[in-house]
Amino acid sequence: MQIACPGCCRPKTAHLCDECQRWQHLYPQEHFRHTALFHFNPAMSTYFQNYKTHGDYRLRRLFECNLKHYFETVTDDCLFVPIPTDAKHAERRGFDPVQGIYGEVVSLTPLLNKKTTAMAQAAKSRAGRLASPQFFEWSAATAVPASKRILLLDDVYTTGRTLFHARACLRQAGYQGRIDSFSVAR
Ligand SMILES: [Zn+2]
Repeated sequence: MQIACPGCCRPKTAHLCDECQRWQHLYPQEHFRHTALFHFNPAMSTYFQNYKTHGDYRLRRLFECNLKHYFETVTDDCLFVPIPTDAKHAERRGFDPVQGIYGEVVSLTPLLNKKTTAMAQAAKSRAGRLASPQFFEWSAATAVPASKRILLLDDVYTTGRTLFHARACLRQAGYQGRIDSFSVAR
């Protein structure tokens, strides 16, 4: 196994990386651990371009075997909460990319809604992403879960901004259990 940051899975560092130290400073009460299966390399970039930008829905199953293999190791009482796309983007694309990737692998519990924002995170610069204000809201129809752990599921980990907004939203709704996160790529 390769050495990676325990906070975000960034390779080649055994300690919390600079970015994670910054998150720790901003969210001192959060103990976070992110797992990513693959590096975001040029092939992965092409994959997400074809899947998300060009909307080839068949590609949602490309990592199904790897994901099933990984999720067999998750045996605790854990809720799988997908990071949502905003409704406008989902409508344009015809599907929700995160639900597409994980929907046939684990049983999903959608707890978050994404507010419709003028600009997608992916279209922003790194600084723009980091500065984004909260863009999630609790999906009001659901009670706060009693489970001991939530695993947030995303497609790509870029800056951590999305996942920390998701955490903050779950905390604000009153969830007190452990929150970890997972993505296909980082
Ligand atoms: Zn890190």
